[in-house]
Amino acid sequence: MYDYLIVGSGLFGATFAYLANQHGKRCLVIDKRNKLGGNIFTKFLHGICVHQYGAHIFHTSDVEVWNFVNKFAKFDNFINSPLAIYEGQVFNLPFNLNTFNRLWGTVTPQQAKEKIAQQLASVSQENPVNLEQQAIKLVGEEIYEKLIKGYTQKQWGRPCDKLPSFIIKRLPLRWTYDNNYFSDTYQGIPSNGYTQMIENMLKGIEVRLNVDYFDFIKLNKNISKKTVYTGMIDQFFDYRFGELEYRSLRFDEQTFDTDNYQGNAVVNYTSIDVPYTRTIEHRHFSKESCSDKKKTIVTFEYPQNFNRLHNDPYYPICDDANNGLLAKYQALQKAHPNIIFGGRLGEYKYYDMDKVIKQSILAWNQEKMLLQD
Ligand SMILES: Cc1cc2nc3c(=O)[nH]c(=O)nc-3n(C[C@H](O)[C@H](O)[C@H](O)COP(=O)(O)OP(=O)(O)OC[C@H]3O[C@@H](n4cnc5c(N)ncnc54)[C@H](O)[C@@H]3O)c2cc1C
Repeated sequence: MYDYLIVGSGLFGATFAYLANQHGKRCLVIDKRNKLGGNIFTKFLHGICVHQYGAHIFHTSDVEVWNFVNKFAKFDNFINSPLAIYEGQVFNLPFNLNTFNRLWGTVTPQQAKEKIAQQLASVSQENPVNLEQQAIKLVGEEIYEKLIKGYTQKQWGRPCDKLPSFIIKRLPLRWTYDNNYFSDTYQGIPSNGYTQMIENMLKGIEVRLNVDYFDFIKLNKNISKKTVYTGMIDQFFDYRFGELEYRSLRFDEQTFDTDNYQGNAVVNYTSIDVPYTRTIEHRHFSKESCSDKKKTIVTFEYPQNFNRLHNDPYYPICDDANNGLLAKYQALQKAHPNIIFGGRLGEYKYYDMDKVIKQSILAWNQEKMLLQD
């Protein structure tokens, strides 16, 4: 008998397991994958730390969360400065004075603001009815055409005039030459990878891999007082109202005989003519960890439709239909007071890593209060 059965060894599950274990609670962590860490799983190939499920850059302004992760890993300083390539031209992201200089040759903030104002002058200020109109209203025709349109269409699998406007709420324009994608106080990547960080969180806690909750629970009905479930919420309820939609990704990992393939960790391809959205060259995340100078590993990311039999769910599609479905499933949760639904799949919500840790800390704090009552 365990106090908590924790379904999923991703950041939500591992954080909860660590905190509960610290308070003397017996935890069992299971994961249906054969590896720890959920989507932040990393592995070493040719001395290079490879992020198997997409580039993961840790960034937060929450000092509690930053102190928490630093207990389990040494972080290398890494500032995410992605590039965008459109028809052979290279642009800095996020949109800043470097980007505007490349587009229009503007040099000062004043010149760039005037250029944007010209672009926006001819744009309708009526309420946008789709993503295309929304993006053009925010940044004008040229940035939209070169840096947003193709990328977004590939990402969501539909043309931008068929996508809802809510997907892009804001498109910040930065009036400095600052290519730092995130504006958080703390940013970095664990020197020895995220998997080692998760291993450190789960030290002394029983973990069983290759174990699917739905098979396991049939044979182990009373194994724990409570369950922390970080799998898909619709699957938990056997899809009784229908399936929640996700976008998926195919990661094509390639090894090249060079020490530098693209000169940057993250490169976005914004033209519709290039089938992938991003290429990630992992050695640029941490210069220290690369022992093999002759090899580099690059992952090409291809967005896909999600099909639960064939690929993994990555990005929830939070439109009205899916939000309505989610509300129905959430209403069913009330009948399961001993199950804590958490994380990006359990809550059907896109969370950055710091936010998912925070949610897990909050979930544990709530548990502690219940235990005290
Ligand atoms: C491509 C991509 C890039 C990202 N980049 C960043 C970034 O740069 N910075 C950032 O802060 N965040 C990033 N994120 C977000 C980050 O991945 C998430 O915040 C985090 O991984 C969520 O952790 P989790 O524990 O909720 O879910 P997960 O990591 O998905 O863990 C859930 C675990 O539950 C297991 N599981 C599911 N169902 C069952 C079952 N039935 N039985 C047993 N086990 C089960 C799964 O195998 C999985 O291991 C990115 C996300 C994606 C998709």
